[in-house]
Amino acid sequence: METKNYSIETLCVTSTEEFVDGEPRVFPIVQSTTYNYKDTEYIADLFDLKKLGHMYSRISNPTVGAFENKMAALEGGVGAVGTSSGQGALQMAILTICDAGAHIVASSTLYGGNITLLGSSLAKLGITTTFVSPEASADEIKSYFQENTKALFAETVGNPKMNVLDLEKFGKIAKEQGVPFIVDNTLATPYLCRPIEYGANIITHSATKYIDGQATCVGGVVVDAGNFDWTNGKFPGLVEPDATYHGLSYTESFGNLAYIIKARTHILRDFGQTMSAFNAFIYNRGLETLHLRMERHGQNALEVAKYLQNHNKVAWVEYSHLEASDSYKLAQKYLPKGGNGVVLFGLKGGHEAGIKLGKVLNLINVAVHIGDSRTAILHPASSSHRQLSAEDQIKAGVSPEAVRINVGIENVADIIKDLENGLKEL
Ligand SMILES: *Cc1c(COP(=O)(O)O)cnc(C)c1O
Repeated sequence: METKNYSIETLCVTSTEEFVDGEPRVFPIVQSTTYNYKDTEYIADLFDLKKLGHMYSRISNPTVGAFENKMAALEGGVGAVGTSSGQGALQMAILTICDAGAHIVASSTLYGGNITLLGSSLAKLGITTTFVSPEASADEIKSYFQENTKALFAETVGNPKMNVLDLEKFGKIAKEQGVPFIVDNTLATPYLCRPIEYGANIITHSATKYIDGQATCVGGVVVDAGNFDWTNGKFPGLVEPDATYHGLSYTESFGNLAYIIKARTHILRDFGQTMSAFNAFIYNRGLETLHLRMERHGQNALEVAKYLQNHNKVAWVEYSHLEASDSYKLAQKYLPKGGNGVVLFGLKGGHEAGIKLGKVLNLINVAVHIGDSRTAILHPASSSHRQLSAEDQIKAGVSPEAVRINVGIENVADIIKDLENGLKEL
């Protein structure tokens, strides 16, 4: 279906799928590993990639396909591949273009799982990463590029620091260096920001967070902008013949779909980080309200942030849309519709107060999750980051007094009342 001219809200609600008369209004769960054919030539052509179609649900599935098409439309890309998790998405995004011996430059303000995947697990496979402060000058960031550097990676909004990235600065550096700019857009979602408009080439997501929105399933997605020239000499894996497909060249056969087709037919085929049809069905439901939820998350979070800022038991508040935030200017530029639902704050009562607040709240539960419609808090120093030494906690941006609140979409007056009652107990 032609969706190019629709606004983002309409894209969220509208199906991207073609239908014939009498088909279901809601795209069904196609719970089938395999597909039927009458024609043996047809299936031979599928295996040779002469035709694209479903043959086995590790590689593609119609329900997952509907999710992928919707995500590509929302991000403004040419194609997408759903994955089993956000971790699976970054792994796929990297392995599609990196072999042992490759190098990546990445922002240092990343989700913990992204840091361990790049800094430890991929390093063991021979793909190394240099982490650089996103605030470093363009010249400093460029100085970390090597002959074998194959990608620049960063998060639109860094988790857990919640800093907003200067996407244009990063996009320009990647372009000059002849490598793709890969952006994890989990915490912004395409409703708040579309990094492709600022120079990104590949987008990854943990769909587990706002795309799901109700904390029901773990998943991810890779979106290809279709705007990178893979024939610049640095990416022979996309250009030279692939022996596992009778010597086919991805760029020759598929043009600007080369990357996303290799991600599916090579990486997903062999590594199997596949999204289930059931999870894709849940995500398709979630995407239809993404715009409404993100708008309310942002409104509620800003009100909660302002309330906390004026509370005498609160030492500091970090939210990108507060004027006092270091990210304020970048947030105005890249997130003009508002922020996400995550607010960080420090309690004057320190570590003890952080533990106690979780116990005395009523509406707000303690949960290790963000992007959920229900408000939750977490004291990272005594939970998600408790295995780290006090020194390493600080390095990870987790101070003893820090509390993270995932502001949900309830009535904000009820959220603030619960915080008011809880803070009184400290
Ligand atoms: C949660 C998260 C991930 C990892 O996603 P999973 O679905 O948990 O594997 C990656 N990036 C960011 C920014 C995240 O918040």
